[in-house]
Amino acid sequence: MAENLSFFQKVNENFDKAAKFTDYPKGLLEQIKICNSSCHFTFPIKRDDDTIETIHGWRAEHSHHNLPTKGGIRYSMLVNEDEIMALAALMTYKCAVVDVPFGGAKGGIQLNRNEYTESELERITRRYTYELIQKNYIGPGIDVPAPDFGTSEIEMAWIFDTYLTMSPDKLDAIACVTGKPIKHSGIHGRKEATGRGVVFGLEEVCSYIDDMNQIGFDPGIQGKTVVVQGFGNVGYHASKYLTLTEAKVIGIAEIDGAIYNPKGLDIDKLSMFRKETGSIRHYPDATLLENPNDIFELECDILIPAALENQITAEIAPRIKARIIGEAANGPTTAKAHEILQKRGVLIIPDTYLNAGGVTVSYFEWIRNLSHVGFGRLARRYEESTYNAMFRAVEKATGYQFSDVERQTVHGADETDLVNSGLQDTMVNAYQEIRETRMKYGKDIVDCRTAAFINAIHKIAQSYMQLGIFP
Ligand code: NAD
Repeated sequence: MAENLSFFQKVNENFDKAAKFTDYPKGLLEQIKICNSSCHFTFPIKRDDDTIETIHGWRAEHSHHNLPTKGGIRYSMLVNEDEIMALAALMTYKCAVVDVPFGGAKGGIQLNRNEYTESELERITRRYTYELIQKNYIGPGIDVPAPDFGTSEIEMAWIFDTYLTMSPDKLDAIACVTGKPIKHSGIHGRKEATGRGVVFGLEEVCSYIDDMNQIGFDPGIQGKTVVVQGFGNVGYHASKYLTLTEAKVIGIAEIDGAIYNPKGLDIDKLSMFRKETGSIRHYPDATLLENPNDIFELECDILIPAALENQITAEIAPRIKARIIGEAANGPTTAKAHEILQKRGVLIIPDTYLNAGGVTVSYFEWIRNLSHVGFGRLARRYEESTYNAMFRAVEKATGYQFSDVERQTVHGADETDLVNSGLQDTMVNAYQEIRETRMKYGKDIVDCRTAAFINAIHKIAQSYMQLGIFP
């Protein structure tokens, strides 16, 4: 595969590779692959010093086979039309892989958020939303944004507020965006969802004895050493939940340097340190690597890129020691690097599957917003009284008295429990489907990325056929 292809062309190459394992008509495959619509717009904003600046924004809706379309909004200097279309396409395939009934979309603004004040960012976000409304690129049944690189729940709250202001009579306006703060109808567990999904996915990957033995590992994630690139939303939460599984996060890279401690890093302490000092560089319990890319060469079992696309290149791939690469970021491995790693027997767990936790919980948030009732509200007390009745029956039959501590361990499922349960179930089922596809064609012939694409193509093709568009 050529290294000089654009990001969107690379996504399409992966699609073409997988499409060869299906026998759908050429026209249907072309319709699935093509980006259905995209728009680039510019608008002026007044900065705090009264200067006027032109801002460039994009939104792409890759596939309308399911509506609404869904995908994050990123703020980065690398944003351009090709990147946004590539990321929108990945969203389409990702949603299909995890059975989330959305088409794929993505949006972005070309800026470095560190160069703007909060009030400037608010003006930019609100104006961007206004442009989306004018162009019919946002709405609970049209296109629903979410956070991505460089954005978080605060931008989602501004987007919601702007949308609501422009459509005050819309009962379902709250479902126009996900990843909102809890107090603005967000859902418990969304902020953590992508990182947590990465961990649920890797636990499932590591649970297969045959697959683990093939790469020289014992099954189970416990005790495995992990290195993470990017300590933002996804990287932080993946690291945090990995340490709870007793995997050991030994290295973390950020844009201004990387740190390493073979005994394991204390993730919450590190996060606190970064908040206080603005960097991970001088964290006391670790060795500093001046070049963040040196992180890729560290001795470890699992490498998790959680920053941006095109980070693992053909130049870096031969030096990687990890036997598993968990793609938490979108498109972190170039096509050539993928080929090199594949030949070396490295197990690559693709973005189209592994970082789908975010959109999965966004789907739950969207359902919650449309139903206007929180998960667990109807059943929680009922479940608790059922459990208590069971306790009393066991006590009566056996004479054993449960302690208060034992009783407290059992409670009716609340929103967080239900969200995490739904997320885990989704990640486990989707990986099993990927594995089944690999077994069907032969694990040496179909890697996880191709298997995920094959599964996505089948599901999207079925949707088109149900719509009666294709025979
Ligand atoms: P974020 O902005 O919260 O964090 C990204 C972090 O990566 C930042 O701390 C940044 O400083 C760091 N970084 C940037 N370039 C780097 C480099 N060269 N080396 C080391 N660190 C670098 O973004 P995020 O939401 O965590 O997203 C990260 C990736 O995950 C993106 O590819 C995004 O598309 C993908 N993703 C995010 C979500 C989500 O829910 N936020 C969902 C699915 C996929």
